Amino acid sequence: MEFTPKWIAWEITRRCNLRCVHCRSSSQLEIDGHPDFSLTEAKRVLNEIHAYANPVVVLSGGEPLLRPDVFEIAAHGTSLGLRICLATNGSLVTAETCRDIKQSGIRMVSLSLDGSTAEVHDDFRNQPGAFAGVMNAIRLFNEHQIDFLINSSFTKRNKAEAPKIYHLVKSLGATAWYLFMIVPTGRGEEIMEELIPAEEYEKILNWHYDMEKEEQDLLVRPTCAPQYYRIVLQRSKAEGEQFKRRTLSFSTGGSKGCLAGQLICLIDVDGNVLPCSYFPLAAGNLRTQSFQDIWENSQLMLDLRNFAGYKDNCGRCEYIQVCGGCRARAYAVTGDYLAGEPFCAYQPRR
Ligand code: SF4
Ligand code: SF4
Repeated sequence: MEFTPKWIAWEITRRCNLRCVHCRSSSQLEIDGHPDFSLTEAKRVLNEIHAYANPVVVLSGGEPLLRPDVFEIAAHGTSLGLRICLATNGSLVTAETCRDIKQSGIRMVSLSLDGSTAEVHDDFRNQPGAFAGVMNAIRLFNEHQIDFLINSSFTKRNKAEAPKIYHLVKSLGATAWYLFMIVPTGRGEEIMEELIPAEEYEKILNWHYDMEKEEQDLLVRPTCAPQYYRIVLQRSKAEGEQFKRRTLSFSTGGSKGCLAGQLICLIDVDGNVLPCSYFPLAAGNLRTQSFQDIWENSQLMLDLRNFAGYKDNCGRCEYIQVCGGCRARAYAVTGDYLAGEPFCAYQPRR
């Protein structure tokens, strides 16, 4: 496996107009001590990334549309030839936003939908009206022919919604649907008891496998469910079928479960480079080090790429090269990011 950055999420602000229960960044409307960086600094970061690699860059938050210069950042990335995407909660999208999205060359927008009804989604997002906001954004994206994908997060409270959300997303004209099981970090730590246990997690991923085999239009992929790569191999072998998965050109670009620090990373609002959006430890900071130096030399990144150093069930597992277990979940539960994935039901043969 070649360890090059293929997909970088970038927290361009930590401010947010929602307070979702599971939020990675514990965002608030005003964030003390974590101010937005300047446009000049943003351009410098993009230049530095572009000089080293050619990843997809996802402008994220917080809510990135709260930054008045978000489209200047996007346009600069586009002018360099980077593929720029935008991750928004949808509530601030207007027709003018859509024109700016197109003009700045943003290639894909991602939205979150965690329930098939306003009741479920608004409860999950802690915000009455959040569902209506997403639906309004989707209507505008369709009107303006902007490609969008939908992320759906699941805990015990909305797990029964998965098939319903899938059918809704199909009907809304999305390019892709990504099912995501919450990783406890940020405000998400408080909902540890809401996480779906390993056996049920396995059932949901098996449901996804059956659905994905039949799905011809929508691109589907469970994100940060590394065990799915094991399940695909197990099921296709047992069923004697060759299962060719389709991929989105704006995805992480890897054919392995966990890609943290291997093909992906997060840059937070303070310039810290973290292995992924849900990993709470920094590998370095762009205010004192170059992106290349952090990517190539950080001990944390090197540890994550050394699969022989993984422990417990993952360390003994024959699927380590295709799965790897979620390193952020291992860290959240045990304090050791190389420990076994706590939400995997598989018993390795060794
Ligand atoms: S550690 Fe890996 S599987 Fe877990 S959230 Fe990060 S990228 Fe996803
Ligand atoms: S034990 Fe670890 S590497 Fe093996 S399938 Fe489970 S999570 Fe993946």
